Amino acid sequence: MSFVVGLTGGIGSGKSAASAWFESQNISVVDADVIAREVVQQGQPALVQIHQAFGDWVLLENGELNRTALREYIFQFPEARKTLESITHPAIRHSIILQLEQTQSAYALLVSPLLFETNQHQLTQRTLLIDATEALQIERASQRDGQNIEQIKKIIRAQLPRVKKQQLADDIVLNDGHLDHLYQHLQQLHASYLVLAKKNQSNED
Ligand code: ADP
Repeated sequence: MSFVVGLTGGIGSGKSAASAWFESQNISVVDADVIAREVVQQGQPALVQIHQAFGDWVLLENGELNRTALREYIFQFPEARKTLESITHPAIRHSIILQLEQTQSAYALLVSPLLFETNQHQLTQRTLLIDATEALQIERASQRDGQNIEQIKKIIRAQLPRVKKQQLADDIVLNDGHLDHLYQHLQQLHASYLVLAKKNQSNED
């Protein structure tokens, strides 16, 4: 796959809604969140490394990763987050590259909440930010997950600030209206990505 659009946005901004729309236009989607869960499944080398780095408490009795315990631990100890990420990020990146290589659509979409934070944008030719105010993010994420507001705020604080993402993204869609409004913007961007992907293709030929 030669032309990849990276799609990002904070929690509750509308990434999943946007990526579902691109899929409906037959664009292949690679989801970094899904991959992040896959690389720590039982039998995966990253889980063995996490076990070695943190100890037995990090596994449940059935051998699966104790996500809740690990999440709480890394929120408490920033150094532990770095250790964890030094294990997971390379594994995630490797898997993203493999999955992108297998995509067949006119261009591919890489959806990642931490596109810029983890330098995954380097795997893309263009970046799109789904943008929303913090108030909207909290409202949508709490309605969707039933998570408490403090927890959502914690996640927002762990992500790159909204203004930084606005500075880094090539394209920005402010998702502050109806879903139809979002889809209209995406339609325009999709048309421009098809053109860019074609240009990219003819430059490579
Ligand atoms: P993200 O993947 O960025 O965390 P989602 O796409 O899951 O965010 O959106 C969060 C929630 O808000 C979902 O339940 C989604 O259906 C809803 N949502 C997203 N955009 C809109 C919108 N423009 N209008 C109403 N609801 C929306």
